[in-house]
Amino acid sequence: MSGSLMGSPDPGGRFGDFGGRFVPESLVPACQELEAAFTEAWAHRAFRAELREVLHHYGGRPTPVTECHRLSEQLGIRLLLKREDLAHTGSHKLNNVIGQALLARRMGKSRLVAETGAGQHGVAAATAAALFGMECVVFMGEIDTVRQALNVFRMELLGARVQPVASGSRTLKDAVNEALRYWVAEVDTTHYCIGSVMGPHPYPWIVRELQRVVGEEARGQCRELLDGGDPDWVVACVGGGSNAAGTFAGFVDTDSALVGVEAAGGSAMGHGVPGVVHGMKSYLMQDEAGQIREAESISAGLDYPGIGPEHAHLATIGRARYAQAGDDEVLEAFQLLSRTEGIIPALEPAHALAWVIRQAGTEIPRGASVLLTLSGRGDKDVAQVRDLLSQGPPS
Ligand SMILES: *Cc1c(COP(=O)(O)O)cnc(C)c1O
Repeated sequence: MSGSLMGSPDPGGRFGDFGGRFVPESLVPACQELEAAFTEAWAHRAFRAELREVLHHYGGRPTPVTECHRLSEQLGIRLLLKREDLAHTGSHKLNNVIGQALLARRMGKSRLVAETGAGQHGVAAATAAALFGMECVVFMGEIDTVRQALNVFRMELLGARVQPVASGSRTLKDAVNEALRYWVAEVDTTHYCIGSVMGPHPYPWIVRELQRVVGEEARGQCRELLDGGDPDWVVACVGGGSNAAGTFAGFVDTDSALVGVEAAGGSAMGHGVPGVVHGMKSYLMQDEAGQIREAESISAGLDYPGIGPEHAHLATIGRARYAQAGDDEVLEAFQLLSRTEGIIPALEPAHALAWVIRQAGTEIPRGASVLLTLSGRGDKDVAQVRDLLSQGPPS
């Protein structure tokens, strides 16, 4: 399928101008081994069948599509939610880590190493490792281990070892470097489990394929609800871009308009420039000296200064567009969905919803159908939202 949209990348791991494998020589063999293993496994019926079984019996797939009747009426559109909040652990992240853990086992590896910022990917990786009886080491910036102490405890409950990183800015990007170093040293026994459609080839491709289930399920479910038609709009939030990539993969060959919504303070497509970071060429937020700028948003899951390379490609060719949502409208959207539909969303997909609310009746015409991927549930965010709301509006 090389060349077709959201098929395989080219042999160099490129999506158009983006992607590739910008890594030190020492990492090339590990990336090549992984690429060969995934190519072989993904073509294998039994591997896919086992993944499907685990995601069904353990993960709760397929997740439903819910039509939001009350909110739809209020907005004058038809709003459908793909309910990844109902998957085990409360987000789409499980799809990726279960797939990578099965792949690691197939490669004869007994340990997962991961990096995490807010802790959500670390918790997901620890979950998959526990399920398959694997060891798990999670690198986390020292500052993040303090900010996200509860997630550190969750990972430890799940049997993982959390390794605080004290170098550099002591946050996510330093944790990534440490995880890569660990992987090179322990590659015989260890698989590096990346959490989004990021990093050197083959990761952006692997993670998108593992999240494709979201879009493929949603496409069939939408056709049942929309008399055989596809939604006019398909919208998802973008941190690194994995839930959006998985969603878009199910609709890229339809007439649906595809929209990825970033946090205004973490907008690689809105304010970024092309560059190379973490093994790939993509868009990223840099300062004038070419240093990576820290992303800032109320949503830790969208605080990544880059975006997956395939999104940079989809934007460049005009097949998808990327928009931003700001903190205040996100808080409004968070409350509105809770109140009108009885669904408390994670702050990340509340960005996508904020954009839909803003555009309904203008760019999104009355009566249009919108599929929005609700990538996760809001339980993790309610304490933070309570604090933000009690501070009141900025004076
Ligand atoms: C991690 C996370 C995201 C951001 O990651 P993507 O790779 O962009 O999907 C979005 N939503 C939720 C609920 C998350 O946990």
